[in-house]
Amino acid sequence: MNRVDGKVAIVTGGGSGIGRASSRLLSEAGAEVVVTDIDGDAADETVAEIADAGGSAVAIQHDVTSEAAWETVIAATLENFGSFHVLVNNAGVGGGAQLFEDTPFEMWRQVMSVNLDGVFLGTQQAVKVMRQAGGSIVNISSIMGMVGGANAAYNASKGGVRLLTKSVAVYCGSNGLPIRVNSIHPGYIWTPMIEKIASYIPGGTEQDVRDLLTPRHPIGRLGEPIDVAKGVLFLASDDSSFMTGSELVIDGGYTAV
Ligand code: NAP
Repeated sequence: MNRVDGKVAIVTGGGSGIGRASSRLLSEAGAEVVVTDIDGDAADETVAEIADAGGSAVAIQHDVTSEAAWETVIAATLENFGSFHVLVNNAGVGGGAQLFEDTPFEMWRQVMSVNLDGVFLGTQQAVKVMRQAGGSIVNISSIMGMVGGANAAYNASKGGVRLLTKSVAVYCGSNGLPIRVNSIHPGYIWTPMIEKIASYIPGGTEQDVRDLLTPRHPIGRLGEPIDVAKGVLFLASDDSSFMTGSELVIDGGYTAV
């Protein structure tokens, strides 16, 4: 199970959902984990869960849209652990449920800022640190970065993550930098981000959301955070050593239809 023994990993948005599951699994597999989240208390909770399981992690409050905050996180990681080898750009926001014509420009900007600018800033900082010793950058995109959907801002941001990933992978490879960069494209995963959809349906319940979304996944269920965390661990580890610029789709068959 020690597939990332000796590696240091930063996971953004690690206080909830996919980020929390990924932080826990990377720790179980031997990594030292830096759990960051805009909600510092949530990051603390993840670190407490990791400590309860016998692992070692630190929590840092972190807004991924701030270049200065990224510099602080990287400096704290290097101070604590001396180096880092894995970056999981996971933090994200969903945006609202309004029609395209009614999408406020501020909402478009906020979704782009967290979901795409945040990944750009983190990836850029990671490449600067990893260029000598190497590393793996895992960007959490979405199936909504591969197909169109009702939420144009979200889909556009996740499509941007997909091509940012490929571009940096090509850049690193063609410049001899030992850094792999890959994206993950989850289907609907049951996390607070998806639970929130109930509030968009008048009188909607969590069961309504499950009933609405489950049939879109031929496998017959929605995903759980651990389903994506296993992909994160694979891409973080040397098991995926011949993969860069790839899209790992973890969607219960959503995009196969
Ligand atoms: P989640 O449970 O809402 O977790 C996202 C975490 O990111 C939250 O703790 C959130 O804090 C944090 N965050 C938001 N803005 C941030 C910022 N500016 N800086 C740092 N952290 C910030 O969502 P999730 O479902 O686990 O999503 C994780 C990633 O997977 C996202 O990129 C999402 O787009 C992607 N994804 C999710 C699904 C799905 O079905 N769940 C499918 C495909 C892709 P707050 O809660 O305080 O906002």
